[in-house]
This record gives sequence, structure tokens and C-alpha cells, in this order.
Amino acid sequence: MNDSPADTDSNSYRGRFAPSPTGPLHAGSLVAALASFLDARRHHGQWQLRIDDIDPPRAVAGSSDAITKALVAHGLVWSGPVLYQSHSSSHYDSALDRLMSSGWLFRCLCTRAMLDDNGCCGQHCQEKNISAGTPHSLRVKVASERLEGFSDRFLGEQPPLAETAPKDFIVKRRDGLYAYQLAAAIDDAKPSFTHIVRGADLLESTYRQRWLQHLLGLESPSYAHVTILVDEAGNKLSKQTGAPPLDSRQPEHNLRQCLQHLAQPAPSSSARRVPEILDHATEHWCMRR
Ligand code: GLU
Repeated sequence: MNDSPADTDSNSYRGRFAPSPTGPLHAGSLVAALASFLDARRHHGQWQLRIDDIDPPRAVAGSSDAITKALVAHGLVWSGPVLYQSHSSSHYDSALDRLMSSGWLFRCLCTRAMLDDNGCCGQHCQEKNISAGTPHSLRVKVASERLEGFSDRFLGEQPPLAETAPKDFIVKRRDGLYAYQLAAAIDDAKPSFTHIVRGADLLESTYRQRWLQHLLGLESPSYAHVTILVDEAGNKLSKQTGAPPLDSRQPEHNLRQCLQHLAQPAPSSSARRVPEILDHATEHWCMRR
């Protein structure tokens, strides 16, 4: 880690775990939950739980409940009330208004088949005068200086996305739903959260979220990405690819597996119960590159 735990406390470290309610917790999401929990605890910080429920068509009934129960069974107990992105629509709308009035947004008519290879608008929609009444998505422009690099606390210096940077990306979908990039950029900004620890599959999203924070005059938190769990075929373990739910009857085993994946020292065999495993893991928490 680049910063020392002694430098931080609960006022200066606010972290979170932010699952989408698209299914029960699986081993891959436990890795992200555990890493963010341990990092917060090691820094004597706060760790909150935010349910990213901005995509109702993908939501699976009962999964928020299943996720919270599984976290508790693994000793990962958050501070304060559970936060829900669905309660933040007014913040997202006012951010969109600001981006629109400062000229950074444009209406786009492209369907998936019309997008270019980077997933950007492929039909020059910015140059068309598309009325608000026509069904459209909203895209944010990415300036020519493109997406800046940043320092990742675990992975080190990340270079600017000069070559591969998209020229625009979606912030509000055609079906009226807010895009993950917009919601995460706003909700993760300081002072709400100071430290984001999450899976490395979101590394590229971080560039986009930092870009939005920059445009909105929000202060970016520090980011740290951990190696994700993959299946035998090398695909990310996810609810979409049918990762099995965690067996909450064996939390000690699950935590030990995650710690091994995160290259943390194994708690001694005398650490039998969840609190002992978490205490050992907190004391020895160290992410190396
Ligand atoms: N809710 C998203 C997910 O589960 C984002 C998580 C994040 O930004 O940490 O993939």
C-alpha cells in the first residue's frame, strides 16, 4: 500500500462495497467485499454498503436480502444504513442538467448495431439536431486530451488511455435508466467516499468515472483494484455467467479461500472462527503489486 494505515482514521477513510442486486453473493463478489472491508478496517476507516439498484430489468428479486445476509454470515458488517442508488435520482438528474448546459452531453439515436467498434456513437449524432421528444440516449463527450492516467494504490501508475480512449460514452440509456458510469462517478466522489477498492474488471470504468468527476467538479477518491476470480475458462466469475452462490454455512472456508486469492498470509489454524480470521487478516492486510 502506498499510504500507511497510521495516516488515516475514520474521518479520512470512507470505503464501500457496492454490489448490484442481480443475484446472491458469489466467491468473486466476496473477494471485492473482503478486500474493501479489510482495507477500510486496516485504516481504521468506515466501510459502507451501497446497493447499486439502478437497473430494475436486471434486478433479481430477493438478492439484496441474500447479499446482506451473506455479508453478515461472513462477518462483513457495514457502518450506518444501507445506501441505495435508486434513492439518488435527483443527484443524477442535476448532474445531467449541468453536463448538458455546459455542452458536454449530446443526444444519440444509435442502436447497438449502429455503434462503432469502441461502442461509441457511429452516426455523428452530435451534429444532428435531435429533439428531446425523440427517444434517445445521452452520451458524454470525451475531450481530445482524453482520459488521464491515475495512480492505483494496488496496481501502481496507470497510463493515460491515449490510443484507445472512447470519444464518447453513455450516461443515460435510451430506456431512461441511468448508466452505471454516471451513478458510480457521482456516488463514489469525495467526500462521500475517499477510498474505492474493487475488482480489476472495473479498471477501465475508473477512467470514465474520473472523467465525469472532473467535468462535474467533483473530487475523485483514491482507487485500488484487486485481481478478480476467474473460472476455468478464464472468464470473470459473475452472476451472469452462473457463478454459484456462496455457501454461508462455511464462512471460515470461504474467507480463507478469498485471502489466498488476495495473496494474504493464511491465518493460523488456531484462528477457527470468522472474527479471528478477520482480525488476523486485518492485522496482516497488505496489497503488493
Ligand atoms: N455495482 C457494480 C458491480 O457490482 C459496481 C461495483 C463498483 O463500482 O465497485 O459490478
